[in-house]
Amino acid sequence: MKTDILIVGSGCAGLYCALNLPEEKDVLVITKAEAECNDSYLAQGGMCMLKDETDYNSFFVDTMRAGHYENDGKSVDIMIRSSQDVVEDLLRYGADFQKDENGELLFTREGAHSEKRIIYREDVTGQEITSTLLEEVRRHRNIRLMEHTTMIDLIAEDNVCYGAVVQLEDGTVTKIEADFVVMATGGIGGLYRHSTNYRHLTGDALAMAIRHGIELKDVDYVQIHPTTFYSKEDNDRSFLISESVRGEGAVLRDKNGNRFVNELLPRDVVTKAILEQMEKDGTEHVWEDLRPIPAEELENHFPNIVEYCRQKGYDVTKECIPVVPAQHYFMGGVKVNHQSRTSMEQLYAVGETACNGVHGKNRLASNSLLESLVFAKRAAQDMMACQDSVKKNLGLIEHLDMGCYEDVETLTRENRRLVKKEIEAAQACARAEQDSEKTEKGE
Ligand SMILES: Cc1cc2nc3c(=O)[nH]c(=O)nc-3n(C[C@H](O)[C@H](O)[C@H](O)COP(=O)(O)OP(=O)(O)OC[C@H]3O[C@@H](n4cnc5c(N)ncnc54)[C@H](O)[C@@H]3O)c2cc1C
Repeated sequence: MKTDILIVGSGCAGLYCALNLPEEKDVLVITKAEAECNDSYLAQGGMCMLKDETDYNSFFVDTMRAGHYENDGKSVDIMIRSSQDVVEDLLRYGADFQKDENGELLFTREGAHSEKRIIYREDVTGQEITSTLLEEVRRHRNIRLMEHTTMIDLIAEDNVCYGAVVQLEDGTVTKIEADFVVMATGGIGGLYRHSTNYRHLTGDALAMAIRHGIELKDVDYVQIHPTTFYSKEDNDRSFLISESVRGEGAVLRDKNGNRFVNELLPRDVVTKAILEQMEKDGTEHVWEDLRPIPAEELENHFPNIVEYCRQKGYDVTKECIPVVPAQHYFMGGVKVNHQSRTSMEQLYAVGETACNGVHGKNRLASNSLLESLVFAKRAAQDMMACQDSVKKNLGLIEHLDMGCYEDVETLTRENRRLVKKEIEAAQACARAEQDSEKTEKGE
């Protein structure tokens, strides 16, 4: 198979990248599962945007503060400054966000935001954005979408990417030749027992990067979301109780019904407080009390969360719900520059799989959809800017040894092991550094 641009992943990053490529380019989007099965569809709270110039400084500072000032300031600036352009595109495609009676966008708030600057559609913002992008993609004749098609390796030589090896739905393994490859494979939640992510998101792009010596960044930065619905059942995915619920007034309570933390602090701080409280109380969860939010607001703004809890036997207008932290987001990833280029030529990474440093050590709520879209567009623009210098390697494609892809199952298992090992090693290293700093300070 042959295409001009191969995009791996049909989440918001992959789709928006495809839409920003010119119509004369043949674009192939592949996805491991059905087109709609990705974390972009699950996003509940919303997407940040720069409302107006007066909010720039506080948006910037909120993002940096949440990221422990380890963020790449230029990436943060690009994200904020590009947000209105991205929102304009989404509205043009037909995305329907919540508006007031004058047709102006409404804004909500989440933890660690000093202002209301998050656009939303009830508690299904990700679905609204991603289904709109998917419809738009399906209208484009130059973009093909192949479901149940999994990238299992990159085709590369001398640090230049020429395509990918993929497994098709019927199990056949084949090569796709491309001028550019964009890895938009999402997060790593499938590697964890408790995660809000889809189980098939297993950091595959990271495995390719490790195998091919492509640079990674901040792989020890894994975000744990403070509040997912606690269930004794062996659920395949933890259900998220969005942070915007706390933004609208919900509070956390210990086993005796007492509050124990400021619920609007950054995620990592709230998570730590919950875990400490659980240990102190000897419990497997804490309680989240949604009753401070008026019942009408609950039904209008958070219908899915209310319904999910109802199905689990909890009426959120009358009682608290049990919540527990779970793996949620990966701040680290394949290292990219501000144009989303990886360290390998002709290879880009966008969305949660990439790390341009925008989130630092801890992502500010609702910055992920925005960052994914902003830097996906930049990847598309950059590919077109350097299309005249594309290198081809027909010999490599033709003579590629396909024998090493005979046992895809073992290869996949090994890929997961590689990624987990990389993350755990980086985390162990970070812990050792912290310990030695403490010793030096005499703490
Ligand atoms: C429950 C939940 C709620 C969230 N709420 C918010 C929110 O309110 N606001 C916000 O900003 N962010 C939120 N996030 C985070 C945000 O949704 C994600 O970070 C973002 O959507 C990632 O987009 P993506 O395109 O990078 O990845 P995804 O949307 O996850 O897409 C990844 C794609 O890659 C494909 N893929 C993976 N591996 C392969 C492979 N080897 N071969 C082929 N295809 C592959 C998958 O099938 C999928 O199509 C939330 C996340 C979750 C889980």
